[in-house]
Amino acid sequence: MIDKTGTVYLIGAGPGDPGLLTIKAKEHIETADVVVYDYLASPFLLNYARKDAQIIYVGKKGGDHTLSQNKINLLLVEKARQGLNVARLKGGDPFVFGRGGEEAQMLLSHKVPYEVVPGVTSAIAAPAYAGIPVTHRDHTSFVSFITGHEDPTKKDSSMQWDVYAKSNATLVFLMGVKNLENIVKNLIKNGKSSDTPVALVRWGTTARQKTVTGTLETIVERVRQARLKSPAIIVIGHVVSLRDELSWFDKKPLFGKRIVITRARAQASGLVSKLSKLGAHCIEIPTIHIAPPEDTAPLKESIKNIKNYDWLIFTSVNGVKFFFDTLFDMGLDVRVLGHLKFACIGPVTKERLKDYGIISDILPETYRAESVIDAFSTLEIKDKKVLLPRAKRARTILPEKLTKMGARLDEVTAYETRINDKGKEELISLLEKDEIDVITFTSSSTVSNFMSHLESKDAGKLLKNVITASIGPITSDTARSFDIEPDIEAKEYTIQGLVDSLLIYYESSK
Ligand code: SAH
Repeated sequence: MIDKTGTVYLIGAGPGDPGLLTIKAKEHIETADVVVYDYLASPFLLNYARKDAQIIYVGKKGGDHTLSQNKINLLLVEKARQGLNVARLKGGDPFVFGRGGEEAQMLLSHKVPYEVVPGVTSAIAAPAYAGIPVTHRDHTSFVSFITGHEDPTKKDSSMQWDVYAKSNATLVFLMGVKNLENIVKNLIKNGKSSDTPVALVRWGTTARQKTVTGTLETIVERVRQARLKSPAIIVIGHVVSLRDELSWFDKKPLFGKRIVITRARAQASGLVSKLSKLGAHCIEIPTIHIAPPEDTAPLKESIKNIKNYDWLIFTSVNGVKFFFDTLFDMGLDVRVLGHLKFACIGPVTKERLKDYGIISDILPETYRAESVIDAFSTLEIKDKKVLLPRAKRARTILPEKLTKMGARLDEVTAYETRINDKGKEELISLLEKDEIDVITFTSSSTVSNFMSHLESKDAGKLLKNVITASIGPITSDTARSFDIEPDIEAKEYTIQGLVDSLLIYYESSK
């Protein structure tokens, strides 16, 4: 009989920065039937999972065990026995204080096949992102990873405080924030110099990273003042002093800024990755989503008659995408477009068109409908048949002007932007708790939908401490119509332009 038991992959999900996931881990997440994850594994990684995969959260935040270890074990066995492959994501490395060893033993005893995918442990990565190398030839010849969870006052403790205190090792404590005072006391009591440097790094490798430094003598008070809580790594040893020189991550220009992205999820990744690279913590709360039009007949009809057109104009990446989706759905390909001339608004739209093998004939100097009109004014457009596939309820200036110039224009709806109110509660709660630094608006509809999310709340009050950043003058005008004066307006009306303007704003406000 063929063994139908699935395999359980015990996967190190890395310390938080999604870029620190291994390629092998990613492959297993992408193919798994079931993904089981907990508190320390970045939820971002779930985006890699198959759409039909079962996603199961098993918690474990401090004492809050959503599922007990025993129940987690049973779950893994049960799923594997159903013939399903399971990706069991664990923060950092599965075998570094992650109970991965116990899970592997348990799987073995149930004859469930398993594999281990080591991960980047927070014990090394969090200090590294704080500019602290855990070893350095001038400072220490070895490093210890120690649990900070064990109560150091308990009688049968396995903690060897005298050994830790006397060695010149870098001591890295995990799960130790609550016990910090005891850890410090025991080390000093056993002879460690009270001026030994110490750092705590909370949420290391993420945009929420926070570091507090001091010495064995001062650290408890400093951590109290900073109200630093778990999860954090405690690093003790002379390597900590290298942070003054080597810190790099917290020096990023947008480090720690909490920025809300309101654009549709499908379009957000470019903005999110640009901002994240600059150190920002991006909070995606899409206020819109992009969908095919309710009635696709007009677009299909115009594609059927495409040979009658002279020009095809795209005003957005979405227009390009939905136009070609429909074209391919109709069993056609780009060869039916060979006779056309093309115009695009904006370099990103132009690039997207190029993905389909077409180079735009016109690219306006700036990225607004008005500039396209200028670009057309130098060409002979009179009596030419122009197709304009774009969003429902888009601005009317472009078709009006082109018609005035004598073009015979057909405007068809290629897609619709619909309101998305899934993140409404999260948005209001973050605003009320003062946990947002910047809100980005990348189109007029992101503004108006954002405002409708706030409902009857006092927008002025909620946005008092928030910087608003608009992608261009039209979006800004929409914001003004709601009594919001954008603090930042992009000089170039693109995502890159918006990011650049944010950078300039923060540079100049330093
Ligand atoms: N297997 C994990 C450790 C699990 S134990 C690993 O290899 O990283 C949980 C402890 O890990 C937390 O209490 C905290 O001390 C540490 N930890 C995990 N992720 C962290 C992060 N991003 N920043 C700081 N500490 C982290």
